[in-house]
Amino acid sequence: MRVRTTARPASDNSRIDDVWGPRTPLPQGGHWSDRVDVVLEEGLAEGDVDAWVRSACVLCSNGCGCDIAVKDGRMVGIRGRTDDAINRGRLGPKGLYASWQGMRGKDRLTQPLIRRHGELVPATWDEAMETIVARSRQLLDEIGPLSHGFYTSGQLFLEEYYALAVLGKAGIGTPHMDGNTRLCTATAASSLKETFGADGQPGCYDDIDHCDAMFLFGHNMAATQTVTWARVLDRLAGPNPPRLVAVDPRSTPVAEQAEVHLAIKAGTNLALMLGLVREVLANDWIDAEYVAAHTVLLEELRKQAEPWTLERTAGVCEVPAADIHRAAEIFGTSERVLSTVLQGFYQAPQATAASCQVNNLHLLRGMLGRPGAGILQMNGQPTAQNNRECGADGDLPGFRNWENPDHVQQLADLWGVDSLVIPHWAPPTHAMQLFRYVEQGSIPFLWVSATNPAVSLPQLARIREILAKPELFLVVQDLYLTETAEYADVVLPAAGWGEKTGTFTNATRTVHLSEKAVEPPGEARADFDIFVDYARRMDFRRNDGAPLIDWSEPEDAYRAWQECSRGRPCDYTGISYDDLRRESGIQWPRREGETTSVARLYAEADFPSHPDYCESYGHDLLTGATVGKEAYSAIRPDGRALLKSAPYVGPHEPPDDEYPLALTTGRSRYHFHTRTKTGRTHELVAAESEPWVELSEVDAASLSLSAGELVEVASRRGRMVAPLRITGIRPGTLFVPFHYGYWDAPPGAPERRPTAANELTVTEWDPVSKQPLFKTGAVRVRRWEAS
Ligand code: SF4
Repeated sequence: MRVRTTARPASDNSRIDDVWGPRTPLPQGGHWSDRVDVVLEEGLAEGDVDAWVRSACVLCSNGCGCDIAVKDGRMVGIRGRTDDAINRGRLGPKGLYASWQGMRGKDRLTQPLIRRHGELVPATWDEAMETIVARSRQLLDEIGPLSHGFYTSGQLFLEEYYALAVLGKAGIGTPHMDGNTRLCTATAASSLKETFGADGQPGCYDDIDHCDAMFLFGHNMAATQTVTWARVLDRLAGPNPPRLVAVDPRSTPVAEQAEVHLAIKAGTNLALMLGLVREVLANDWIDAEYVAAHTVLLEELRKQAEPWTLERTAGVCEVPAADIHRAAEIFGTSERVLSTVLQGFYQAPQATAASCQVNNLHLLRGMLGRPGAGILQMNGQPTAQNNRECGADGDLPGFRNWENPDHVQQLADLWGVDSLVIPHWAPPTHAMQLFRYVEQGSIPFLWVSATNPAVSLPQLARIREILAKPELFLVVQDLYLTETAEYADVVLPAAGWGEKTGTFTNATRTVHLSEKAVEPPGEARADFDIFVDYARRMDFRRNDGAPLIDWSEPEDAYRAWQECSRGRPCDYTGISYDDLRRESGIQWPRREGETTSVARLYAEADFPSHPDYCESYGHDLLTGATVGKEAYSAIRPDGRALLKSAPYVGPHEPPDDEYPLALTTGRSRYHFHTRTKTGRTHELVAAESEPWVELSEVDAASLSLSAGELVEVASRRGRMVAPLRITGIRPGTLFVPFHYGYWDAPPGAPERRPTAANELTVTEWDPVSKQPLFKTGAVRVRRWEAS
């Protein structure tokens, strides 16, 4: 069936009220049908559009294929692409309304700003860049490369990350590079490295069409990837629907559809997972032949899981033992299970250890690499995958191992520099540590691109103090004057989606090309051009005297990246710009000369775990200590997967008498991150204009609180104020969305009426992935009385 939505004005709110759109039932093994979603500026029809320019949506990790509508040199709408395997023409509320309208805010930055006498004042590009270069040179001379830190995004393009990685690692030689991808996707990468030896999503979205059961571990897909949830709903509406299991303390739309909803106590993910592993082992639901041939560490896993009887697991997680058994039975007896994992695991205590148990369940069942049997260790942000691949997050590009001298030498040869320049003497500096170094004063130069740590990092009062340090030289590059940009010494106006060309890769290894559709406003420049300009002005050179970065167009950088990826798990050598103009979305790996991609990794159980090839020798999942080559090699992974585990320990800040509720934060279906774009989109602001606090009926009643009234939530670190919603959330748990900062807040915020969830959160991270634990901490709530 093909449901074609004719041109619809932006004011038509059909995808606001009906977020996932009409059902197009999908039988098991069938083909998900097309449905074209279109939104155009008020009064325009599709025939009025001058050009439709190929792109993909950058408002979540789905990367839905789309065309940007252009009229008179302006973006005027968007249309889903039916030839795209990710969305088959569908778009969700964020993509439909915010992708293009969010770029057209009247307050876009149009020229550089420099702080003079305490005020940000307009400057020329030359003045701004020379100010940056002068400070950069001075600090490199006086202190050296460790004076420089770069904190980037999950929303730039591949070419931009690669440019940043090369200039940071081979030009400056600093290990202090990370992205806000640390906040959303670091555990996905870590769990894949720990289990398989390298990053790389095993499954694909077609697995939804084939599976017998789906497990969503801490993944409210209905809000985070609305189009993919529509695909699940279509499976549920068709013949032979999959059995659904949800692990989430909230009663989300996913949980409402689930046959088994495990609303476990905050901080107990690992306990639940060890309980599930034990059930699968105890009932002999394992593929013994597969496990023997393709995995190591089975006995260690058995020992770790053994104490987690149903009764003990149920006691710790505070859910019925029968439900845990039922979930385990569904996993253990279904032929094809698809598991997805997201922030409910990634931002919670023992994040990597818990996420690895999802991989373990699949390995024990031998369920990988065939239709319907897959793992989606999801990403949060649209281009997070590229940040990880290209190394702007601190990893070495091409999934290379910083502990492997041969891998470092490969990069040195590629970039024409001495291997000693490339930082590899210690693990790369993760975001939480990077900001700690700024706090301590050892990083006096911080360049923030396309992200907003003044709202998105934990414990905001502390982050504001760090950003305001007078000795810090802060460069901020963004579309708008964000809460972070307010602290900057230099603000660079960036061109964004639709205003520049580049590629990006979604959560399922699918690469899209996003073409430039319109000119950026004023003097705004593409992030790629800014990084290349900085490298040129700094005169970074190869050992042979040639410029380190001699690219003038994004495609030059892409070709360089293809070489960098050659022979690695994320091999792009068979995916050119021309290929991406022909095919709407191509999965890596596709090697030079190949014309088809690998839909599912590890069909032959050919894991990238050999010590000479792997991306990481791994960590102790409890402490985060690195394993090292010798100990790793002694396990003899050699192409086999590792069944890694760790003992369960409870959360560090459980509720107590003073702060009796467990805090969890998360996303709304209508907003993305700190609302830089979605907050400038009329339909989405109207749908959810302010944050809210979610409590169970039991907790609200015990505090005599009513729905709609303003409540104050306080933790040991700060407070926030928002109206109360009474929902089916697990009693004893309190939820707040994290999107709401202060750029559009009423006067007096944040002092009088704080709205950011991260006023409450704790500075704590997973020992392996270093992902901040936003879904932990204790809070109390009371009626708010304005002072
Ligand atoms: S699901 Fe994600 S990528 Fe697709 S339209 Fe919505 S926000 Fe954009």
